[in-house]
This record gives sequence, structure tokens and C-alpha cells, in this order.
Amino acid sequence: MRTLYVRIIVVTMAIMIASAIIAFFASNIYYQNYLKPKNDAKITHISKNIVDIYKSNNKQDISTYLEGMTDLGYKFYLVDDSGNGQVYGDPFRIKNLDPISVEKVLQGEVYHGVENYPWKPFVTGFFDNELKNTIGVPLDVNGKNYALFVRPNTSQQFGEMRFFLAALLTLALIFSFLLVLISTSYIVKPIKRLTEATKKIAAGNYHMKLNVNRKDEIGRLARDFSKMSDSLEQTETKRQEFVSNVSHEIQSPLTSIQGFTELVRDEEMTDVERHHYLTIIEKESKRVSLLSRQLLTLSMLDHDESGNNAFPVSIDDQIKDVVSTTEWQWREKDLIIDLNLHAGKITGSTDLIQQIWMNLVTNAIRYTDNGGTISITTEEDKDGIHAYIEDTGIGMSEKDVMQIFDRFYKVDKARTRSEASTGLGLAIVKKIIEIHNGTIEVESEIGKGSTFHVFLPKK
Ligand code: ADP
Repeated sequence: MRTLYVRIIVVTMAIMIASAIIAFFASNIYYQNYLKPKNDAKITHISKNIVDIYKSNNKQDISTYLEGMTDLGYKFYLVDDSGNGQVYGDPFRIKNLDPISVEKVLQGEVYHGVENYPWKPFVTGFFDNELKNTIGVPLDVNGKNYALFVRPNTSQQFGEMRFFLAALLTLALIFSFLLVLISTSYIVKPIKRLTEATKKIAAGNYHMKLNVNRKDEIGRLARDFSKMSDSLEQTETKRQEFVSNVSHEIQSPLTSIQGFTELVRDEEMTDVERHHYLTIIEKESKRVSLLSRQLLTLSMLDHDESGNNAFPVSIDDQIKDVVSTTEWQWREKDLIIDLNLHAGKITGSTDLIQQIWMNLVTNAIRYTDNGGTISITTEEDKDGIHAYIEDTGIGMSEKDVMQIFDRFYKVDKARTRSEASTGLGLAIVKKIIEIHNGTIEVESEIGKGSTFHVFLPKK
């Protein structure tokens, strides 16, 4: 039984055979308990009629009479008072009638061999052609006592019917076997296809179309499987993109560090030039360091979503901290910081939430030209705290707004190159907000500025 196909067929056939055996057994019990007494009563009634009819045709020879009666579908065993017996009609398979029963009938009793026929699980008493399985009635022939044993001649009574039933059963079996073969292949085919598809996925080939148009469990399985392979494909594409982005982001500062280190070796270089190149080297190495820190943060957020989330966090205090930490940056650009903060607390991870404000405020500073304004407002309602970080900076197009939370996405690659940006800041912000069951929305217009609206629920 190496294939599902063979297994289903074998199991179905076994079930069919077992059902036939159980059905035979059950109908035998039915015959034994319900039909057997009725059958006995019916044959007794017929036997008595046969005797009555004989009596009313008194002159007729008993042998001729019984021979004639055999045509009606009965067989007889006639015994005289000396124990001499004669069979009329088809012979009995076993002549196992005991002499006491014969004697009793000769003395005028009725013998109920059909009703008293013993129960055998796999032999239907109804068809068992034994002399014991008969009805015995007394018969008076010209003043002499006889015992007449009667039973239906089943092969005569059910002759054609038997062939009809046998043909019906055999054909039913053949057709059910053929239909099982066909229906099993219908069931197994999509599973085979799914197995092939699984092998392809295991080999890294995600491009597949499973054409299973069924609405049952297998159809659902195939559809879910297709969805799974699509999402695996997306994950794989994202993974490859991620790896290539990381490599690129690491490679470019390293290349410039190498280049400038070569230059610094030149002994004829002036101190001013050397200082300039060393500053670049320092900036680039800070960039690699920032990148690796951000990647670690993202990986930590990806793997441990729960975080250390159970501390009261004062949002307004955190924002004030961030504004003072970044003071030299916004002062350098002559930015106006307009704070409109209301005291409010939520429960969460202090460090992670601090990171949200740090990333959003440094972005606002970075992408706002000199002399601009950054307004930070917080509001509290019954569900949580809303924070709005608004700048009058360069703004973004709608298309960019849709992608800024993707890892490594940068709107203006040339500008961000000099700004030591990685394209990971907002991805981290989004992830932290998700962990705290909050939301972030952006409104932005090119040339006018952007507003980041963060909502963090209290619980
Ligand atoms: P980065 O390290 O490049 O700032 P982020 O993930 O923080 O990475 O931001 C992604 C991109 O979104 C940035 O490169 C920038 O183009 C854009 N962006 C983010 N904040 C602002 C903002 N306040 N104004 C305009 N553009 C912004």
C-alpha cells in the first residue's frame, strides 16, 4: 500500500466486504427472530391445506397427488406407519429427521421443524434444504396413517429470482469497484499536484499555479497552499532585497573609508586637508555604527515583540528630553521649536518609546531647511495619547508617504547620502508603535512640510 490511491481502494473494498458480511449476519438475525416463526406458520397453513385438498379428492392416488403438488413449488417426504419414506420433488440435501418426530406426526401432532431449526450465524435457515427443516402434518390415506413433511422448493420458487439477485449483486460490486477507481483518482490527483508543488517550493521555486477548482477541503487546502507559496515568495524577495540593501549600506561607507585612508597616508598633505579627510572617515564610520545599531534594534523588535512593556511612560517628559538632546542640531539650522505639550502617561517600554520621538524629531530637523519651524503637540483622550510632530520642511509626495516606513526606503538618495541617513529610522518607529498597539499616520505636501501623527493607547 505505497500510494494513497491503492490505500483508498483497498480500504473501500475491505469496507464493502465487511459491510456485506455484517449485512448477511444482521439479516440472518432478523430471519431468526422475526421471519422464522412467520415462515413456519405459513408452511404449516399450506401443509394443512394440501392435506385438506387431498381429503376432499378422496379417490386420488396419494403419489400422483403429491407429484402434482411439487409443480406448485413444494417438496414432500411421505412416511407410512412402518417407517417407509418416499420423497416427492427435488431431493433433500440431508435426511436428518429423527424417528421420534416422525412417530409424533403419525400420532396426529404437527411437526414444526422450520421454527425449531437451530440458529447458525452464516447459514440462512430459510434456504437450508434439510429434512429436519420441514413442517410435518398427519395424513390419512384410505384409513392408514401417514406423516407428510413439507418444505418449499426454494430453488424452484426463487429460480430466476436467484439469478436476478446474483446478477444484481455482481454488477453492483463491479460498478462500485469501477466507480471507486475513478472517484479515488479524482480525490488523489490534487494531492499529487500539491506534493509536486511542495517539492518545488522546497527546491526554492515559488512560481506555480495550482489549478484546483474545488470547493471542498482539498480545494481549500490548495488555495491556502497557493497563498502560502505567494507569501513565501514575497518573504524571500524581501529577504534578498534586505540582504542586498544591508550589503550596499555597509559597502559604500567602507569604500569611502578605505579611499580616504589611502589619501591621508600622503605625507605632503596639509593639516587642513588631513583634518577634512579624517572628519569624513569619522562620519562614515559613525554611519556604519548607526546602521548596525539600527539593524540590531530591528532584529530585536522582530524577534521579541513583547519587549519590556509594563512601565509608565511620561510622553511630554520624553519629548522635552529629545528636544534638549537635539538642541545643537536645531539651533545650528535656526529652527523654531514650538512645544504644546500636555502631561500624559501611557504604559510601555520607556527606551523604545523614547526612540520614536528621537527618530521623528531628528527627521523633522534633518528635512527642514534653515529657519523653519517644528511644532510638537500632545493631546490626551480617554483611549490614549496623540502626538503631532509637524515641520515646515521639504515634504514628500503621496507615493513616497506610502513607502517611507519600508526598510531602507529613502526619498532623496543624494540628499540622505550626506545626511548620514540609513532609511531604517521610520521602520523602527513603526515597529515600536505596532508593538504598543498604536498607529502612525503621515500628512505631507512637497515644499510645505509634513505632520506625523502618533497614537499610543493607554493599555
Ligand atoms: P532616514 O534615516 O533616511 O531618515 P527614515 O526611515 O527615518 O530614514 O526616513 C525615510 C525617508 O523618509 C527619509 O529618507 C526621508 O526621505 C523621508 N522622511 C522622513 N521624515 C521626513 C520628514 N519629516 N520630512 C520629509 N521627508 C521625510
